[in-house]
Amino acid sequence: MPEITTFNDFSLNKQILNAIAESGYVEPTPIQKKSIPLIQAGHDIIGVAQTGTGKTAAYLLPLLMKLKYHQGDDPRALILAPTRELAIQIDEEIKTLGNYTDLRHCAIYGGSGTKLQKENLSTGIDILVATPGRFIDLYLEGVIGTKQIKNLVLDEADKMMDMGFMPQIRRILEVVPRKRQNLLFSATMAARVMKLSEEFLEFPMTVEVTPQATTVDAIEQWRYDVPNFKTKINLLEYLMRKEKELNRVIIFSKTKANANNIYKFINRKVTKSVRVIHGNKDQNSRLNAINDFKSGGVRVLVSTDVVARGIDVTEVSHVINFDVPIIYEDYVHRVGRTGRAKLSGVAITMVNEVEVNHIREIEKLIRMEIPKRKIPKHVQVEETPFEEAQMMAREIDVIKRRIDPDYQGAFHEKKQKRR
Ligand code: ADP
Ligand code: MG
Repeated sequence: MPEITTFNDFSLNKQILNAIAESGYVEPTPIQKKSIPLIQAGHDIIGVAQTGTGKTAAYLLPLLMKLKYHQGDDPRALILAPTRELAIQIDEEIKTLGNYTDLRHCAIYGGSGTKLQKENLSTGIDILVATPGRFIDLYLEGVIGTKQIKNLVLDEADKMMDMGFMPQIRRILEVVPRKRQNLLFSATMAARVMKLSEEFLEFPMTVEVTPQATTVDAIEQWRYDVPNFKTKINLLEYLMRKEKELNRVIIFSKTKANANNIYKFINRKVTKSVRVIHGNKDQNSRLNAINDFKSGGVRVLVSTDVVARGIDVTEVSHVINFDVPIIYEDYVHRVGRTGRAKLSGVAITMVNEVEVNHIREIEKLIRMEIPKRKIPKHVQVEETPFEEAQMMAREIDVIKRRIDPDYQGAFHEKKQKRR
């Protein structure tokens, strides 16, 4: 196959090339270069590349080219996505890239009424973007014809699995024609994604673009294995006191409660130069906190994972993952925040017994082991309280069952037998 360097090297038509030029894309991204020719050759594909690398266009361009112009009333392509936001985003990209075609498309998703969505469907459609739940609802109402669906895309497959959509996806695939091209895209090559692909794809070709090592190369990474919340707090206090160069620190936690507790603790024991942001804070106080931190007036920012997404904070000296991020790419993004512009940075991650499972997946993603450090001997290691231990046991069960659906579980054993 000749080497692909520009969009002109794919067999795309004028309409599509014009739309690409207008959207300002100059060169295909690596995942686009690798997957578009294979999709055009008719293969089922598993495409894996980091968030933000252009996976949407990687499947949309060949899809638009294949469908060409509007035809019939029922959708010929179905794109499944985990969230409403993503469905809308994909639909918008179809609008942009399909601007000079007459292909009809719409997105259906939960969280808003069905009236408008049904109207859109009733006027005839070529490409349907849907969240799994809403697709099933409207299918059962009889407003989606599935007979013509010959192209199926599972976008953000890893997130769909994380959100527990497997049963819905199974149901959907029972009602679409067997003979079809399947494209699966994901930010990670997690085991559950492979399982999904085995179930639904036919002799798929795997296309993988590994994250650029440079994102994490410049950064020192430390991992501490810490048994419980209280010990994490002790370690945090130790690090904040001991490591003088911890002068611009972001601390990430997975819950609002944890974020608040960390904030209170630092404020009381370490420094008043600390702010906290999370979903319960209004927009104004969040912005103020971020600005105070950016301007250097505040040394420490505590944030939940969700709120932290999309905040651009440069020149951070340390990122502390008080909890291991459940969305694994967040680790890469987060660690990428330190060490910008040749400044060196340190990313410190605290890992409990449950989180060991997540850190393993993250290490696969970044293709390296995060060097372990011993808990310094001045840090008090606490007993895990009963409730916290129970919670962890329950979480471990959930993880094991995700890997092996037949796993009976230590925690729920008794309950399950009675059923
Ligand atoms: P992913 O699905 O991999 O997370 P997206 O498809 O959402 O990434 O694309 C991320 C951003 O990159 C979007 O704003 C998209 O418009 C843009 N983009 C996609 N392909 C290209 C390209 N070839 N050149 C420049 N920008 C691109
Ligand atoms: Mg995407």
